[in-house]
Amino acid sequence: MIKIKSLVTLKYVALICIACIATATAASAATIDKVRVWPSPDNTRVVFDVSAETKFTYFTLYENGPKRIVIDFQNTRNTVDLNTVEANTLLLTKIRPSSPKAAGDYRVVLEVTKRVSPEIYTLAPNGPYGHRVVVDLPGESLEVAAEPQIIRTAERSENRPVVVVIDAGHGGQDPGSIGPAGTYEKIVTLAVAKRLAAKINADPNMEAVLTRRSDYSMSLGQRASAIRKARGDFFISIHADAFTSPQPRGASVWVLSRRRSETEYGRALEDKERLSEELYELEPTLHQNGNDPHLVRALLDMRRDDSMQDGSLAAEILLAELGRVTTLHRPKPQGASFAVLSNIGTPSVLVELGFISNPHKERLLKSAAHQEKLANALYSGLRTHFIRHPIDGTALANLKEQRHVVQRGESLSRLAERYNTTVDAIVRLNNLNNTRIRIGQELQIPTT
Ligand SMILES: [Zn+2]
Repeated sequence: MIKIKSLVTLKYVALICIACIATATAASAATIDKVRVWPSPDNTRVVFDVSAETKFTYFTLYENGPKRIVIDFQNTRNTVDLNTVEANTLLLTKIRPSSPKAAGDYRVVLEVTKRVSPEIYTLAPNGPYGHRVVVDLPGESLEVAAEPQIIRTAERSENRPVVVVIDAGHGGQDPGSIGPAGTYEKIVTLAVAKRLAAKINADPNMEAVLTRRSDYSMSLGQRASAIRKARGDFFISIHADAFTSPQPRGASVWVLSRRRSETEYGRALEDKERLSEELYELEPTLHQNGNDPHLVRALLDMRRDDSMQDGSLAAEILLAELGRVTTLHRPKPQGASFAVLSNIGTPSVLVELGFISNPHKERLLKSAAHQEKLANALYSGLRTHFIRHPIDGTALANLKEQRHVVQRGESLSRLAERYNTTVDAIVRLNNLNNTRIRIGQELQIPTT
């Protein structure tokens, strides 16, 4: 009896041990919890959010049948229905599972439209993200309207247009702030940026270049390189951020400062900017950038003081214009150590169009009419700045600012005739809602 009993016990012990091993294996397997696809004009990024650090191998199949990249995640389970993952970029057409060679592995196949050399790497947890396996597929992935042709000689000619680089804040995987009714900051910033660009490009003495022209994410490095590529004279980054409470309202204009902001809201914005920089998952970009950081910094510091001063002058004028169409959160330019404004050596401002966290402002920021007013204010402000603080060699530097104080009996059409311009041009430049003017009103007169 004793013998049998001990045998039974042994059998139980063995069973329990097998259970132990099974549990241990299950616990150590990582899971794929989310798959995100982010196309940008020159790259498709696929991010696998995984529950733990994951090893992988991959190979490409480009000879027969559809072109494929096959990735084996070692000891991994998938919890995502890959059919629901939208993979319709110009480069990537499908993400599907396949049978792995080794038990316990998970195999994913990416179907692509052409041969690419994928870069696949892991990222450690950072900010709101956990472990990730990132697949970068270089190549045109997003249809973007052709870049407006900027014709320039090596030595820029006299009377050239002022080049303004307009940066629509956030984009793609980074929505920016989200309003109480669900409006994404990235959508508002792009809409206003495009309206501003259209106004600038309609002005023969100015030229606009957008950092992004549709909904994709950009690293700070990419935004800075857009400025260099365009040889921008001025950089304006457009935002509509939130605050922790719904009360604050009004626009503000920020300039780069060496010190951290003195206000609570300013510090919150600085932190938010830092966070969105992390959201860009830009670690690989930093590694690829082979510039000597010390050299770059020394060169930039020399140009920076001038740029900071010029940014402040522009900010004052922009605030005056914005004050005509919206409430101002702060009537003076605000200084903050924003990452997006630093390290570019180009005069720059960051405009907060209003608080998307305020329900009333959120509705306004979504409306085309209000977006148009804001864009008009920014356009008039920039133009005035480049006339008042001219840049050598630009056409606007030769223009004098003309102001006219309306006298009794004058009308817009009479003024247009007198100054050899059009009623429309005066209305646009002064952000007028209609053609009525009053005695004593000061008008800017367009000069061409
Ligand atoms: Zn923002």
